[in-house]
Amino acid sequence: SPEANSVPKRELKSYEDFGSMGIKMELLRGIFSYGFEKPSPIQKRGIMPIVNKYDVIGQAQSGTGKTGTFLIGTLQRIDETKNHVQALCLAPTRELSEQIFNVCSALCTYTKIKPYLLIGGNSRNEDINNLDKNTYHIIIGTPGRVFDMLKNLSLNSKNLELFVLDEADEMLSKGFQDQIYEIFQYVPKTCQVCLFSATMPEEALEIA
Ligand code: AMP
Repeated sequence: SPEANSVPKRELKSYEDFGSMGIKMELLRGIFSYGFEKPSPIQKRGIMPIVNKYDVIGQAQSGTGKTGTFLIGTLQRIDETKNHVQALCLAPTRELSEQIFNVCSALCTYTKIKPYLLIGGNSRNEDINNLDKNTYHIIIGTPGRVFDMLKNLSLNSKNLELFVLDEADEMLSKGFQDQIYEIFQYVPKTCQVCLFSATMPEEALEIA
């Protein structure tokens, strides 16, 4: 896109099928059961940089498979034998968070990975209880409730390895900036950061 022209481009290897990405068998089963047979163009190029622990900015029009890109990349990165939160994925609305959570749950059906949906509107006490009693590997949610749970120490971010922002243009715009900044204070300095968006305005790119 014209906005991205000033950013140096690195040639990305394109993987023509999910099998060639070296994805874990249980996750592969989930991908196929969900109905994804072949990766979409952004999935061909965008999954492996996440798996390979790069910070990533993924830009593609809506409806092109961004959710699958960052979820498959993230799920492949998660070590299900480690019992702590390893990935945090934020989206601007409860509805979108729910959608991401549902796709995530489907994709990891055959794995032992446990995702958790953390959004306003759900019972705050239940969230505190659940986060205390259960071990989740990936948290998906909206900034408000996630920050709340980080602040009251119900959500332990000490072992976070991957931080994903969906609709990054919106998440880094004036409305959300301060909240994302506050959440970022809880993210370890070594954490991998992945931003996904249909557009990348100058303002968002600068903060990125
Ligand atoms: P998204 O851009 O992530 O919202 O995805 C748009 C639509 O494409 C959703 O309905 C996805 O389920 C579908 N989709 C994403 N990736 C694939 C794929 N590899 N094969 C088939 N459908 C896909």
